[in-house]
Amino acid sequence: MSLFRLNRKKLHGMLLDHPEDGNERCAACDAACCRGFPTVELTADEYARLESLGAKRLQFTLDGHYYLIIENGCEFLYGNRCSIYEDRPEICRLFVCSSDD
Ligand code: SF4
Repeated sequence: MSLFRLNRKKLHGMLLDHPEDGNERCAACDAACCRGFPTVELTADEYARLESLGAKRLQFTLDGHYYLIIENGCEFLYGNRCSIYEDRPEICRLFVCSSDD
């Protein structure tokens, strides 16, 4: 038995130059980007905003980097949807992914 699934989709991700928004943009997504990375890097303002929204998995380093830990799925993900879509970090707005098909 193969350890690799032949029908598995290969996803490609990239950061855009400018944020793209609109509810239809993420409507068909199964939130691979919200589950597929260990962290989202934040600005200090985003860190404070997410903290005020109740984020529990925040982390900062002494050299001035701020993170939301999303390993095994972001805490703001409900089903396949971002529950703080209007307040999500800039990196989340810039990221797009697509499959090979
Ligand atoms: S904040 Fe929203 S868009 Fe960003 S990783 Fe979490 S669920 Fe996904």
